[in-house]
Amino acid sequence: MIDLDRRRGILIGLAVGDAMGASVEFAPPGTFLEVTDFRAGGPHGLEAGEWTDDTSMALALADSIAEAGWDLNDQAERYVEWWRTGAYSVNGRVFDVGMATSAALLRFVETRDPWISADPLPRSSGNGSIMRLAPVPLAYAPLLFDRVDILIARAVESSRPTHASPQCLSACAYFAVVLAGLLHGLPREEVLDPAWPVLERAREFHALHPEIAEVAEGSFRTKVPPEIRGAGYVVRSLEAALWAFHNAIDFREAVLRAVNLGDDADTTGAVCGQLAGAHWGERGIPPDWRQRLAGRELIERALNGLAK
Ligand code: MG
Ligand code: MG
Repeated sequence: MIDLDRRRGILIGLAVGDAMGASVEFAPPGTFLEVTDFRAGGPHGLEAGEWTDDTSMALALADSIAEAGWDLNDQAERYVEWWRTGAYSVNGRVFDVGMATSAALLRFVETRDPWISADPLPRSSGNGSIMRLAPVPLAYAPLLFDRVDILIARAVESSRPTHASPQCLSACAYFAVVLAGLLHGLPREEVLDPAWPVLERAREFHALHPEIAEVAEGSFRTKVPPEIRGAGYVVRSLEAALWAFHNAIDFREAVLRAVNLGDDADTTGAVCGQLAGAHWGERGIPPDWRQRLAGRELIERALNGLAK
């Protein structure tokens, strides 16, 4: 049985990390006042506590799993709904749409085929599918020990409609296994250990892309900024989030380390927020941040849907 506090923490953590980074998205490291709290402004002119596409797409994915089961077409349809109408947006507006995502969704509208909508080449290896992954481990973490193959297949498939490069697919496979381990309450050191038996079994079903394998083997423990970067490239993004999370003392420290890398700060924050939220649970997220997070009713609705 997975603890309710961790289940809530992974999605609320995603949104908090996203909102925390939104004010400095695209700002190179060292060019902004250190982020210590929600802040208004940023490239999308948001209010403090408002979140971006990372959370919107996660909410769309959560609703799809809750209402349609596992259906890639339905997932893509809901992303299009967000992209076209502002559904799942914190303020009803459409903003912060990634280039790979808009190209893929445009192609989905033309072809109605989520398996061929995204560019499968390595040049399209943004972090747009790890940033929204939480609903997959939320729904399928119970499979971790007995059917890790299905958990991985779903994580990989969830990337397809918008991010189909080998790096993106592999990042989702690894990230889902780690998040599921944390949701089960396993110690962080065990889940992030390259010799974790569950991970070794997972790798029999999915051979990790060499660059993701390097991260899984612990590149985030030895590198430091500026080698650690809050970049949009999925490999660097995952590595940065793990760097911020792996030895942080609490949720606050993890997420603030992630967003203060700047650049794709909202997404590094969202990826780190999933890790930290699954690990420390909702109770580990500063109450003041939880209270001032915008669009709480949308997040509650998604959590309720997945609880059924
Ligand atoms: Mg964003
Ligand atoms: Mg971003």
